[in-house]
Amino acid sequence: MPGKITKSADGRLLVPDEPIIPYIEGDGTGVDIWPAARSVLDAAARKHGKRIAWKEVLAGEKAYRETGSWLPEETVAAFRDHLIGIKGPLTTPVGGGIRSLNVALRQMLDLYVCLRPVRWFPGVPSPVRHPERVDVVIFRENTEDVYAGLELEEGSAGAKRLIEWLAANFGWDVAADSGIGIKPISRTASQRLVRAALQYAVAHHRRSVTLVHKGNIQKFTEGAFRAWGYELVAAEFADLAVSWEDCQGDPGARILVKDTIADITLQQVLTRPDEFDVIATTNLNGDYLSDALAAQVGGIGIAPGGNINYVTGHGVFEATHGTAPKYAGQDKVNPGSLLLSGVMMFEHIGWYEAAADIVRALEATIADKIVTYDFARQMVGVHEVRTSEFASAIVERL
Ligand code: NAP
Repeated sequence: MPGKITKSADGRLLVPDEPIIPYIEGDGTGVDIWPAARSVLDAAARKHGKRIAWKEVLAGEKAYRETGSWLPEETVAAFRDHLIGIKGPLTTPVGGGIRSLNVALRQMLDLYVCLRPVRWFPGVPSPVRHPERVDVVIFRENTEDVYAGLELEEGSAGAKRLIEWLAANFGWDVAADSGIGIKPISRTASQRLVRAALQYAVAHHRRSVTLVHKGNIQKFTEGAFRAWGYELVAAEFADLAVSWEDCQGDPGARILVKDTIADITLQQVLTRPDEFDVIATTNLNGDYLSDALAAQVGGIGIAPGGNINYVTGHGVFEATHGTAPKYAGQDKVNPGSLLLSGVMMFEHIGWYEAAADIVRALEATIADKIVTYDFARQMVGVHEVRTSEFASAIVERL
């Protein structure tokens, strides 16, 4: 019997054997990658005596065509009600009332963690010599920073008023022809993000958590993020984790918590990726870092992501790339990103064996040199297949 995923009083997810999971197919190549990813997820679940009762919900172009709304309230309500969901890529409407459907969904459900694990799968083409050294899990703050949408356009009445007010009240000289964005970074949002990263590090036996920030320049936002992170370690994780300063780099059995400045981090994840394990960072830094790291391990076609609120239990897992409209409907692109987001979803609901099976079968498929166009153009002696054929090859190897 299909049933809803719920949350117990002590905060655990209660998952029936046939959970109802809402999904958004996605625009553009969503029509290609969603059925492919779904077929693998279904096969892996079946192997372990489970089933998913998929429930389609609309967003993006399909929703706009059918309902006149880019993000219907029923869709948000379905994700709210069923706790866990998955989505393909969505077109960002240009000039519409919504800045980005993805950002809107994250804000409406308060999905405060953007979780992006980045690791290499043997055989995947990479531009670096040692992609196997990359095994990083990024916790990117998902609700604040310059992504909060607090912006005033250059020349608008609001921008003019704010510029005058800043001059009158703070003596700040902001050029009259400026657009203005506000960057809020709060103690609450910073600490719940760092808490999630530390809890993950503890649960997954990780060695270190690095706080990535730009606090040398932006002292009261990025710098405060760093300070609040360390404060949290001392207040809530003293038995399990220790800051670099408090142990001089020798944490013993505890998790080492250190920090690096965002610009040098972008160099170091390239030159010394094995020094990074779990990363906790602010929204914009996390956006840059996750794409930079993903590039080292095969790029956008295979990088998964999840947006999670660990307190309410809500999670929406998603392909991290866009709709790639030039390939839409061609059965051509790599379904790996959406599929691995599904793997993250399985792990999140405790279906670890099915998740591990998919990863093994994906690795076996790539090892057999069966790949989609994006990998094929970087490899020699491979068999290039369509999206659906790639999924079938994974299912055969489950
Ligand atoms: P994009 O759709 O991510 O495509 C950029 C390039 O990435 C593609 O041309 C292709 O590279 C590669 N790519 C994307 N998906 C792939 C896949 N499944 N397999 C292999 N390669 C893949 O970015 P965009 O063209 O900038 O954005 C298009 C639309 O998507 C926009 O409306 C944007 O707002 C939206 N978007 C949505 C999300 C989301 O929903 N999470 C994220 C980003 C962008 P090659 O050309 O080299 O083959």
